Amino acid sequence: MTIAASNGSNRTNSTLSNVVSGGDVAEEPLSLPLRPDRNTLNGRQPNLHPPTDTDLDKIEAAVREMLLGVGEDPEREGLLKTPKRVAEAMRFLTSGYSQSLETLVNNAIFDEGIAEMVLVRDIDFFSLCEHHMLPFMGKAHVAYIPNQKVVGLSKLARIVEMFSRRLQVQERLTRQVAEAIQTILEPQGVAVVMEATHMCMVMRGVQKPGSWTVTSAMLGTFQDDQKTREEFLNLIRHRPAFF
Ligand SMILES: [Zn+2]
Repeated sequence: MTIAASNGSNRTNSTLSNVVSGGDVAEEPLSLPLRPDRNTLNGRQPNLHPPTDTDLDKIEAAVREMLLGVGEDPEREGLLKTPKRVAEAMRFLTSGYSQSLETLVNNAIFDEGIAEMVLVRDIDFFSLCEHHMLPFMGKAHVAYIPNQKVVGLSKLARIVEMFSRRLQVQERLTRQVAEAIQTILEPQGVAVVMEATHMCMVMRGVQKPGSWTVTSAMLGTFQDDQKTREEFLNLIRHRPAFF
């Protein structure tokens, strides 16, 4: 589910559904052409590679070109080291490409034999949208109901971080976090809700500061059982008293 809210025009992104006209005859469902999964190349797996030092030089050269492109002089004092700084910052902000789930959770999965909901709320995350390479950031809430296996709590935050530090769309990021937990723990269910504000909507485009987008991914029990889902949603709504 995706909810986009804006305090400006208050227009929400609703999903396309059958439009029921005044009478009781439902109109033909809208049939719009579907574009292929945006994480692929016409349906094929994208051609990713682990970044190298040569790639860092490429980013530096590109930033120099960008500086020229915006009308700047890359030789002036204040900009001399900018290409190098931007390249290093980009490397950090996209460091999720060099991480793998296996290494990340290595030695942190335990057999506790419990089956109660585990929830980590308010995990800060910072990501870059793949359309503008501008930041989007917010809070993630991650829950699962174990099937014997549990993972160290900090690892849930690490998983959010690993997928955030890539070029993303919020919907895919949310789903990837949920599916990663599903893969490593095979729990009874996983729920992930992410609330974020996108700089590409705030600083440019529709220029709506204060707009935020909520995405959720529910797997297993959270998808099938309304009571479990509601318990989770209530728990993330409640404000803790110690802040
Ligand atoms: Zn964007």
